[in-house]
Amino acid sequence: MCRHLGYLGPPRTLHELMCAPPHSLEHQSYAPLHNLHNTMNADGFGVGWFAAPPRGEGRPPDGDRVRRFRRAQPIWTDVSFHEVAEVIESSCVVAAIRSATVGFPVDESCAQPFRADGRLFSHNGVIEGFAGVETKLRELAGDLAGMPDARAPVDSALLFALTVRRWRAGRPLGEGLADAVVAVSGLAPGRYNVLAADGSTLAATTWGDSLFVRSTDQEVVIASEPYDDDPEWERLPDRSLIVADASGVRIRPL
Ligand code: GLN
Repeated sequence: MCRHLGYLGPPRTLHELMCAPPHSLEHQSYAPLHNLHNTMNADGFGVGWFAAPPRGEGRPPDGDRVRRFRRAQPIWTDVSFHEVAEVIESSCVVAAIRSATVGFPVDESCAQPFRADGRLFSHNGVIEGFAGVETKLRELAGDLAGMPDARAPVDSALLFALTVRRWRAGRPLGEGLADAVVAVSGLAPGRYNVLAADGSTLAATTWGDSLFVRSTDQEVVIASEPYDDDPEWERLPDRSLIVADASGVRIRPL
């Protein structure tokens, strides 16, 4: 299982969020504590963030603020990432490190978060028996126009496509995730921890793997594993949906 992290709050650098803490995502890539199904997360990594709007005239719409950095290599080997991570800051971030599910390639296109319509998405898990349900999932996903990441050769891409479809049908960020997880889990057993952001909201599900939240008045972090020993990290129950925005944090069962 991969590990992922979502952040919403005052601007923080990618380095502060992903590399600096004692049990950062970078540390979790070679020494995870809560991984039940693998020992390393070394098959690539990715981060998506919402850039501050440019100053002055001609500000682009919100969707154009999403930026990504993805690689097929382990995060600890990427010297260039460490250089830029110290100077890129954002108030809304989704980051992931990957342990590729057997049968899918180690390729940058499979590194998450995926992106469409100004939203970021990460799946920590697996659709078990994917080959047997792939055709059905493709039917449900329908037209993949405008979501090139949904074509990545990995199970998570179709879960992403189903989620984007729900968002395009007008479902809010968290409810779109919940709909897609409930639909896919009805077709195939699996582990469906997903995480998404739209710049002002974070949402995530637990379905078969660990997830923790730490929130204050100022910021919220949702992560597969706590990145430090702060006692304020709270473990979420399995099969839950968490949604966090400026009005607070809400958790409900799935
Ligand atoms: N199934 C996804 C992949 O292969 C996610 C893997 C994971 O959570 N370890 O990338």
